[in-house]
Amino acid sequence: MNEEARFCLQCGQPLAPITQEEDGGAKTRLRCAACGWTHWNNPTPVLAAIVECADQGGRVLLARNAAWQHRMFALITGFMEAGETPQDGITREVKEETALDVLALDLVGVYDFQRMNQVIVVYHVLAQGEVHLSPELAEYKLFEPADLRCWPAGTGYGLAAWLRSRGHVPQFIDLPPARP
Ligand SMILES: [Zn+2]
Repeated sequence: MNEEARFCLQCGQPLAPITQEEDGGAKTRLRCAACGWTHWNNPTPVLAAIVECADQGGRVLLARNAAWQHRMFALITGFMEAGETPQDGITREVKEETALDVLALDLVGVYDFQRMNQVIVVYHVLAQGEVHLSPELAEYKLFEPADLRCWPAGTGYGLAAWLRSRGHVPQFIDLPPARP
């Protein structure tokens, strides 16, 4: 579990694990003993893009996050924001993080990423332009689809599904260790 909340959002009292009857039976969650507020801890929607570069021979852009300790490359991802559609959100993220313009996008699938308590919406994005990375990203690489490797979680399952749709057999590698 990715529990962050410690205090009630309604009255400010400390939260505690409290068991209560719900529609699905008895369930222990962080709740407020004073006012009854429940911290549901629902997963956060994250958008992810398999960026196929139309003017780079269809190679796929993966980028390395500047905050990561390991030299790993991943899909472009970002949080969905209030007031935007998922399609608008992924178009915005690709533009902000790579400066590429999105020509077309299609949904690959929706996947859980329980380590981060996220639900990941993976798009295949056809994009073009000159890459300029945002400061969040340290470097990028262009991969032939056949050379891509998938993590056995979250975005990796989306990447694997897209590779299969293109006639490739996805190759999986170990998920990097969780950040402390
Ligand atoms: Zn409360």
